[in-house]
Amino acid sequence: MSDIRRVLIVGGGVGGLTAATAFAQRGVEVLLIERRPTFEVPGVGLGQPANALRIYDALGLLPEILASGFSYDRMWIFDHEREPIVEHKFLLGDDRVPAFCALSRLRLHEILLAAAQRAGVHVRTGLTVDKIVDETDQVTAAFSDGGSASFDFIAGFDGIRSTTRHYLVGAAFAPRPSGYGGWRVQVPRHANVRGMEFLQGIGGKTGAMPLADDLMYVFHIRPEAPDAVFRREDYAGLFRQRLAGYGSYVAEIATALDEKSDIVYSPIEPLLLPWPWFRGRVVLGGDAAHTFPPHLTQGAAMAAEDGYILAREALTGDVPLQTRLMRYSQARYARCAFVYTFSYQWMLDEQSVRTAEDLAAARVELKTNASARIAASDRILDSRII
Ligand SMILES: Cc1cc2nc3c(=O)[nH]c(=O)nc-3n(C[C@H](O)[C@H](O)[C@H](O)COP(=O)(O)OP(=O)(O)OC[C@H]3O[C@@H](n4cnc5c(N)ncnc54)[C@H](O)[C@@H]3O)c2cc1C
Repeated sequence: MSDIRRVLIVGGGVGGLTAATAFAQRGVEVLLIERRPTFEVPGVGLGQPANALRIYDALGLLPEILASGFSYDRMWIFDHEREPIVEHKFLLGDDRVPAFCALSRLRLHEILLAAAQRAGVHVRTGLTVDKIVDETDQVTAAFSDGGSASFDFIAGFDGIRSTTRHYLVGAAFAPRPSGYGGWRVQVPRHANVRGMEFLQGIGGKTGAMPLADDLMYVFHIRPEAPDAVFRREDYAGLFRQRLAGYGSYVAEIATALDEKSDIVYSPIEPLLLPWPWFRGRVVLGGDAAHTFPPHLTQGAAMAAEDGYILAREALTGDVPLQTRLMRYSQARYARCAFVYTFSYQWMLDEQSVRTAEDLAAARVELKTNASARIAASDRILDSRII
């Protein structure tokens, strides 16, 4: 019988809900606390690659997720006029899981929350941790409502501004502005958009991802001042200006943007917390430990993998808890470091296209090498970890 009987999960995003369900399905008593008063999540859709789908499959959720999303198996790179440069068929997935399934963030959260509750997770919203006291054989959390409780360990899946991370490393490690930002808008799906697509522009990159038969999102990544704060009422005009150099459906969408458009802006703030991701009985996962440029659409996928692998490693083997958490931390650091490095490099390369000459050179290079480069990443990400 495991020595882990009671776990606190801080944060009810993809990572926290996956971890909570994975622990509870293995018979552990789990309390999950979420700071927000409800689980209504903002934001557009999420592309979930095969490696994430395998985690959801292990939790028994694959059919529901596939039925809720749009599956696709390839991506295209075009130029800014949507002239094709390269088509890549992902080397992800198998007979059971598609390469990608994209769905609304809200729907994914609903499915994960219902799974956590079915597994017996005790979920409390509007609650956070004010203080953590790590003792030798247990760890105690003082909650924001004045209560407190003790656990065998605490897992912080509390996102990019994690207070659990702050408990472990203070302000020394935090996401740092990359100098690039991402604009996104959810719009009716253009019939030609059948998978992930990137339109390489001059001074930025635009793209689209299908979310449903009738829905997709369009994104644009470009240099933005690290401290830029845009007023919501200016979003439509600012986004339109930024899409000015693009043709095809992007130009149509840019023209139609108005104050009712569902636009999201977020600075790209990468973080790879140095290993290990735990001390004593407190451990981190998901965006609390790592955030990536969005190019591989692996942020939520890595959070889900973290949650599942944490439960598996913490509950496996007749060795001290510290050894098990080290095993988790070591395995996850290596995989997340790959995603961090690959996606950061991709962002720097695409954003270095600053002139028509750069674009001409990029076109030749992408045509020759891009598919092989992405295939190398696919092979790594598709390697079985469960
Ligand atoms: C615009 C955008 C598009 C993206 N697209 C994709 C994509 O297509 N595919 C993909 O895989 N990834 C994508 N990502 C990344 C992905 O959203 C994140 O990597 C993922 O959500 C991380 O999950 P998480 O559970 O670690 O953190 P989060 O989803 O941030 O969840 C953390 C939760 O903890 C709660 N919380 C925070 N602090 C506390 C506290 N002190 N106490 C209690 N609760 C707390 C928060 O309210 C939140 O609910 C995208 C990100 C953005 C911004």
